Amino acid sequence: MTIHIPFDNSYAALPDAFYTRQAPTPVKTPSMIAWNGALAAELGITGESAEVFAGNAVPEGADPLAQLYAGHQFGSYNPQLGDGRAILLGEVIDTTGQRRDIQLKGSGPTPYSRMGDGRAWLGPVLREYVVSEAMHALGIPTTRALAAVGTGQPVYREQGGLPGAVLTRVASSHLRVGTFQIFAHRGEIDALRTLTDYAIARHYPDADGPMGLLSAVCAAQSELVAAWMSVGFIHGVMNTDNCTISGETIDYGPCAFMDAYDEARVFSSIDQTGRYAYGNQPRIAVWNMAQLATSLIQLYDDKEAAVEEATAIVHAMPAQLQAAWLRRFGAKIGLSDAVPEDQFLIEELLTLMQTDGADFTNSFATLGTDTARDQFTDRAAFDAWDQKWRGRVGPNAASIMVRANPQIIPRNHRIEAMIEAAVAGDMVPFERLMQALAAPFDVPAAFEDLRRPPTKAEIVPATFCGT
Ligand code: AMP
Ligand code: MG
Repeated sequence: MTIHIPFDNSYAALPDAFYTRQAPTPVKTPSMIAWNGALAAELGITGESAEVFAGNAVPEGADPLAQLYAGHQFGSYNPQLGDGRAILLGEVIDTTGQRRDIQLKGSGPTPYSRMGDGRAWLGPVLREYVVSEAMHALGIPTTRALAAVGTGQPVYREQGGLPGAVLTRVASSHLRVGTFQIFAHRGEIDALRTLTDYAIARHYPDADGPMGLLSAVCAAQSELVAAWMSVGFIHGVMNTDNCTISGETIDYGPCAFMDAYDEARVFSSIDQTGRYAYGNQPRIAVWNMAQLATSLIQLYDDKEAAVEEATAIVHAMPAQLQAAWLRRFGAKIGLSDAVPEDQFLIEELLTLMQTDGADFTNSFATLGTDTARDQFTDRAAFDAWDQKWRGRVGPNAASIMVRANPQIIPRNHRIEAMIEAAVAGDMVPFERLMQALAAPFDVPAAFEDLRRPPTKAEIVPATFCGT
């Protein structure tokens, strides 16, 4: 084991009620599949070790534990979830002075595994690796991927036996709305207060008390969801246990970037009612913040006053989201100073895209060029919009759009093909995707094929939750 991780653990110093100490379960034959050397350097990690990131060796300074949390899943409260297949090794202070969690995912059972096996298979591990790193390259807050390690053991899912893998995930913390909910619902007010103080100190040191924390998280989640919308991202499972306090995207399960624009697009096969559809995400983010508010109110003696304050904060969120959305989509059509009236111009384009099933990414990426028009079947309608648009934007529009409209996103059919190849032992599609997605706003000719939307036969209708 030739690795050094400069651990500096704080969560393990919190009361026992917050977690269970749990070592990862060793696997048969650890093999390094993907290693993020640049991120390792940022974290102050030297060396590399498949054994450590498979859970076969606990590195010096680690204090492995499974975190406790609860959460609303598809709107119903589950009083206990917790890390059922994840283990926090510990934290480091990165080269910029930021505290970061290092967590193994798929590292064996924990006391919170319920019916699960505590494992993950290679497909979802590589999906999360690629999509989270793509998200980071797009400039959107997210957990990161440090390593993907093969276990040499099969994992059994609906599809049968699949190659097992462990992902090492890095997060500015794994505090979720559900971490607050569990203590609030149990009436463990001291633990809730300790957690709140910890979250404020770690993420929002300027926040004034629980309501200050609530405001800060509402602002962070507004920015996050507006950013998702601007790249056509559908999280898929926006349960409160998958909603971070930091405002980072977390838990890439049945997520996807959409190809053809569709407000109602759903990718998750378990989301029967479309609760987490693309266009519903802003509403769900507000709903999730209402759950955080409900938990934080428990900290106040004067409940009536606390409810009033929390309600005002949550009710302000739709306007915050709308402002963030307008700034993001304004930039996508070349406006650095979008005003509320511009919303109509943006929505008119989105309506055309919806009706024509135009490719979301490529339509924006080619605006102002002849190819944009090719995305639309109703050319006359597009031309009418185009004229209006040209009348609104200034000479710097192109330079604004270049930074707001990615040329390349991790398209679902490419991810599926990449997984299929990886299972067969071919990592070339993975390497190629990673290389292209590292610079999504600028695509060399060699990656031109990755911009192409799926053909009818290539469309991936749903992403299954068998993770
Ligand atoms: P997720 O849908 O990935 O956010 O997971 C929801 C809950 O199920 C979390 O508590 C996970 O730890 C748990 N979970 C998911 N998959 C497994 C598994 N294979 N084994 C044990 N627990 C799991
Ligand atoms: Mg989760």
